[in-house]
Amino acid sequence: MKNIAIIGAGISGLFLANLLEKNTSFNYKIFEKKTSLDLSDGYGIQLSVNSINLLNKIGFQKMNASEIYFPKKVNFFDAKELKKICDIDLAQFNFENSRYTTLKRSKLIEFLLSNIPEEKIIFNSDLINIEEQEKLRLSFRDNNKEEFHYLVSADGVYSRTKEILFKKEGLPEYFNSIALRGNIQNFENNDISLYLGPNFHFVIYPINQNNEFNFISIIRKELIEAEISNRNMFNDKTFTNNLINQISSKTNLNLTEIVKEVKCFPIFVSKKIQIPKFKNVFLTGDAFFSFPPSFAQGASQSIEAANELFNDLNDNSSNYYKTRILKTKQINSRSSINHFAFHLANPVNVFFRNIFLKYFSKNKNFLENYLGKIYKS
Ligand SMILES: Cc1cc2nc3c(=O)[nH]c(=O)nc-3n(C[C@H](O)[C@H](O)[C@H](O)COP(=O)(O)OP(=O)(O)OC[C@H]3O[C@@H](n4cnc5c(N)ncnc54)[C@H](O)[C@@H]3O)c2cc1C
Repeated sequence: MKNIAIIGAGISGLFLANLLEKNTSFNYKIFEKKTSLDLSDGYGIQLSVNSINLLNKIGFQKMNASEIYFPKKVNFFDAKELKKICDIDLAQFNFENSRYTTLKRSKLIEFLLSNIPEEKIIFNSDLINIEEQEKLRLSFRDNNKEEFHYLVSADGVYSRTKEILFKKEGLPEYFNSIALRGNIQNFENNDISLYLGPNFHFVIYPINQNNEFNFISIIRKELIEAEISNRNMFNDKTFTNNLINQISSKTNLNLTEIVKEVKCFPIFVSKKIQIPKFKNVFLTGDAFFSFPPSFAQGASQSIEAANELFNDLNDNSSNYYKTRILKTKQINSRSSINHFAFHLANPVNVFFRNIFLKYFSKNKNFLENYLGKIYKS
């Protein structure tokens, strides 16, 4: 029996573990850096039908209905005037049992954990070295050394595995943007509301049937090197409050009043696609590639990647990176286009952007190509 080390108990690592649980030709262990997984946080995540199809393979359709939401549309608004620009019908990409879904990230993690035996996750593990011998010899900070046939790096955007493999080149880069996250209780619109402003956008969407909503804003912000690496700055209440005040002053929605438990963090993205020289090392999820967060595909792609990797390990087809590179390029270009269009500041550009949005949001061929290609894969 072949054994697999999965580094990281995030969305990708846990989904892969769920697939491996149903396959007797592999044994696996998950090494997680944290001491436990936070199952209490209230922030949300959007999952498109491509990942819901895969999650249903492991029983996601049986999730408690009150803990998920099925938004039917994305409504685009001008952030200042709150005037609706257009909407996109998401339901057109749904299948009978797979619908565009929003929920709390912690609920997704809880679901993914429910099928994994406790002893399979080794917490407080920090990988420090990889040696290629007959098998892969992994060394951890606590002096633990173990050998595996395969190594799956699912340790997210700040992947340590990638840093070990590619040194400085493996590190992500600051995307000149900061994310603000928060929770809203009771909001007037039950679909996904996307507000576009100059150099920022924010999104509000329901995360369950209890009138709880997720707030996420991406704000353009150039920072100097010392600020980027200063984690205390991002935990500082004054810094967070200044950011929320800054976007509040550019919208007629009273964000300072309605958004609670606001947190902020810098956004990092991958510099380029990198393939390890070891044949039996696989990068998945954000560790393979972190996208700009303007297409809401990071988690869905992490799930898709884990599924492709599982198929590849099963049939030994060596197609994993080929398929992943193609998909990553498609998502990355769409994420970058969205980010650019959402943040336009010049009123003339905004005027034309809104005309394009109105036209393309109702153009079947465009939607099929831009969204359908990704959602229906
Ligand atoms: C602001 C923002 C909003 C987003 N919204 C959405 C959305 O709505 N929809 C969507 O699809 N995606 C969204 N994403 C992206 C999504 O969250 C990520 O793409 C997804 O979580 C990546 O999954 P992963 O399994 O690769 O990594 P993660 O879920 O980040 O998991 C990585 C795991 O590895 C662990 N780890 C880290 N280092 C080590 C180490 N050295 N050793 C062992 N373990 C380690 C971490 O503790 C963590 O548990 C968003 C991202 C951002 C920044």
